Amino acid sequence: MNLSQRDQKHNWHPYTQHKTAQSHIAIMLGEGALLWDENGKEYIDAIASWWVNPFGHSNNVIAEAIYKQLTTLEHVLFGGFTHEPAVLLSEKLMEILPENQEKLFYSDNGSTSVEIAIKVAMQFFYNKGVKKTKIIAFENAFHGDTFGAMAASGISFFVEAFKDSMIEVIRIPVPVKGKEQESIDALEKLVKTNEFAAFIFEPLVQGAAGMVMYEASELDKLIAICKENQVFTIADEVMTGFGKTGRNFACDYLQELPDMMCLSKALTGGTIPMAITSFTQEIFDGFYDDDINKALFHGHTFTANPTGCAAALASVKLLATPEMQENIIRVNQCHLSFQEKINQHPKVRFTRVLGVIFALEIKTESNESYYGSLRNKLYDFFIENGVILRPVGNIIYILPPYVINDVQLQKIYSVIEEALEIV
Ligand SMILES: *Cc1c(COP(=O)(O)O)cnc(C)c1O
Repeated sequence: MNLSQRDQKHNWHPYTQHKTAQSHIAIMLGEGALLWDENGKEYIDAIASWWVNPFGHSNNVIAEAIYKQLTTLEHVLFGGFTHEPAVLLSEKLMEILPENQEKLFYSDNGSTSVEIAIKVAMQFFYNKGVKKTKIIAFENAFHGDTFGAMAASGISFFVEAFKDSMIEVIRIPVPVKGKEQESIDALEKLVKTNEFAAFIFEPLVQGAAGMVMYEASELDKLIAICKENQVFTIADEVMTGFGKTGRNFACDYLQELPDMMCLSKALTGGTIPMAITSFTQEIFDGFYDDDINKALFHGHTFTANPTGCAAALASVKLLATPEMQENIIRVNQCHLSFQEKINQHPKVRFTRVLGVIFALEIKTESNESYYGSLRNKLYDFFIENGVILRPVGNIIYILPPYVINDVQLQKIYSVIEEALEIV
């Protein structure tokens, strides 16, 4: 039996209906934007392995940082102790995070970073004796799969079974073109009730919804409304962070700054699971007290794992290199040229580009469901042709490692053009 067959015996895969799913492709090797399976077939990783890998697979610089850390201090508990990689990484992130961010709380994945932000918002008001327990979020948001993060997520079939057991989250429309005022009106109505602790959003791009994009100036207005009404703002940059939008963070396009930020995915260059939630001094001070009960009683066993921190430190340094910044610009320009060309195609409803993110919506008769038949047909076609793309309903998006070369990008574009002929 090959790996793919042996896998079926014990492994339960994410977002998978095993009864109808095909077997899982066993990947043996990765380099740059390429992956190879156990039969030697080559794939272009056009979605950076779920948006985590900006600098290419098996990146030497990060691998060396990890090895060095593993042979110095692989892990130590973060309760009562600290270590150099965490201190260095925090100092480094302070250089690039929005200027109002002061305190960092480490955890393990995007969902936990969101969980922590929501708990902090709720406890901040609890500590002050103020009852604000509800959260505001966008329609079709995705913030993760643990209970708090799931409650904030609005992709309904993900959360249907649990909807009676979750914290109260009220949704407002995303301020996409034509819906700007509707979004503002809905938010204004909610904040006036004084029941809300925070507004959580994916800044500028809603990844899991199919790379839905909206303007920074619209988000500025929503953040300003929250500020005026003492509702904290949480920018979930788990997907957008570390260069995806063309700047370090999507929030770098804003005039108004969020109170909290969630970081994960590309944080360690796609190597080690790690996340950070960042906060303003004001928020931290809401927990700073002689009373121990006002502390944030939250932690994870591997909080601020030194090896993860060393990987993240190497990644953040790589991101800042002129070479990587040029890569981001180059990928963006290739996307823009392809966009101009493919916009004319009769089967294309619209396209969107921001930074290294490209999205294309196919014209369909009916509303295509998230994991519907069109999506599966497209997915299979891409895999057959050696390109890893995971369409969302009728939306095809590209989010490649920044190091992808022009030939590989052109291959992705041509495979998408061919796919438009078979739908
Ligand atoms: C992926 C994602 C998450 C969840 O992160 P996990 O590491 O999968 O738990 C949260 N928010 C956004 C915006 C994401 O894209």
